[in-house]
Amino acid sequence: MLQKKKGEDKDMGKIAIYPGSFDPMTYGHIDIVERALEIFDKVIIAIADNAEKRPLFSTQERLQIIKNIFKDTPHIIVDSFKGLLVDYVAKTNAKVIIRGLRATSDFEYEFHMASMNRSLNPHLDTLFMMTNKDYFFVSSRTIKEVAKLGGGVEGLVPDLVARRLKEKFKLPVSKKKQMSWDDM
Ligand code: ADP
Repeated sequence: MLQKKKGEDKDMGKIAIYPGSFDPMTYGHIDIVERALEIFDKVIIAIADNAEKRPLFSTQERLQIIKNIFKDTPHIIVDSFKGLLVDYVAKTNAKVIIRGLRATSDFEYEFHMASMNRSLNPHLDTLFMMTNKDYFFVSSRTIKEVAKLGGGVEGLVPDLVARRLKEKFKLPVSKKKQMSWDDM
């Protein structure tokens, strides 16, 4: 059995990183975060700042939205990162990456990414959490496609996200619910 050296494991609590595009955040993502908080003391939601993916929401917008969603949830940190995830993780005390799995179609990509990350840093593990049955069909991509065509996405994303989508796609937002980015 491995012996821990004295003082090696300062009790900083167990920290996990949940990386993703979150363009935008859905209840599928939120469910994973909430369940991860049952296992870890702290969860860092790390937004990939990758312009090549041509996100609908800028990194700044995604940061504001996600910070707002979790404003009353302690032990959540919302941050963004550029470049390799393993380099970002190295700057934190996290040892675990969390990813959600919806279907077998997610598996192959996730398996390759987890294997690559582990090859880049053998001390880093990826923990997969199975999607909640209520959200197995929810992805940021389909949410954007439906919202763009005026379909209702309420119940699948927080109200704030539903409003931001309507604003992006220049669809009518009820006056009462309108909110400026500065209100956040
Ligand atoms: P990425 O572009 O890195 O795949 P996403 O924002 O699409 O980022 O997803 C981040 C993580 O959340 C991924 O592991 C993805 O599989 C997971 N995820 C996305 N939607 C759901 C969902 N409905 N249920 C469970 N996990 C999900």
